[in-house]
Amino acid sequence: MLEISGLSHAYGKHQALADVTLEVAPREIIAILGANGAGKSTLLKAIAGLIRPRAGAVMRFDGSDIAQLLPHQIVERGIALVPEGRGVFGDLTVAENLQLGAYPARARDGEDARLAHVLALFPRLTERMGQAVRTMSGGEQQMVAIGRALMSRPQLLMLDEPSLGLSPLLSREVFRALKTIRGDGVGILMVEQNARASLDIADRVYLIEQGRNAGDGVASEMKSNADIQRAYLGQS
Ligand code: ATP
Repeated sequence: MLEISGLSHAYGKHQALADVTLEVAPREIIAILGANGAGKSTLLKAIAGLIRPRAGAVMRFDGSDIAQLLPHQIVERGIALVPEGRGVFGDLTVAENLQLGAYPARARDGEDARLAHVLALFPRLTERMGQAVRTMSGGEQQMVAIGRALMSRPQLLMLDEPSLGLSPLLSREVFRALKTIRGDGVGILMVEQNARASLDIADRVYLIEQGRNAGDGVASEMKSNADIQRAYLGQS
């Protein structure tokens, strides 16, 4: 579904991404693991069209070239990003944030059904539809952010650190929701500092070190790999 190769990006002299390759198949959950500053957020931003230029990169989604598209055009193709820090509008209500997610033309039909679906996924948002998002807990705001992204009817949902700052209970709720979202036919590409939780739900994993591919594999096999355990799971 998503095919990336030869993706590089520099911030000034700092080479944040160098020749990165990545693939996501339909309905796959992919986790990207790597140390702080490895370039994981930059990778998601580049796919979302927020970082340019991406000269020389091959970026295809559903068979068509997306390398030169603008962010709103990428959303229109069916790729939604839940950014680190969530990017919700704090002064707006839950309902308003969710409505804003439905702005792409691809999302106009069936908006009510999708809203019902989001509320079924995150029932605690139902009684909070009129609440300003800035007054909600971090976990609830993350639910709003994921819900808003789903309102755009994505085929691929990208999430940057979805469990950052969340209690273990709310993290579990968010990871459970991600499994349901995949069950509904949406592919997931996520960057997660909680390596254990992401290995538990991911199908495959990519390791990124200093902006480069440092390995990839099936999540269940990676979990039992001693090097991975040492480097990412804090086991000796
Ligand atoms: P973390 O897990 O800490 O969020 P990351 O793997 O997501 O890290 P990125 O945020 O992609 O890493 O950053 C990769 C490198 O690029 C880092 O060294 C970072 O300092 C640098 N960088 C990121 N954004 C910018 C920017 N706007 N200007 C300059 N350098 C940047």
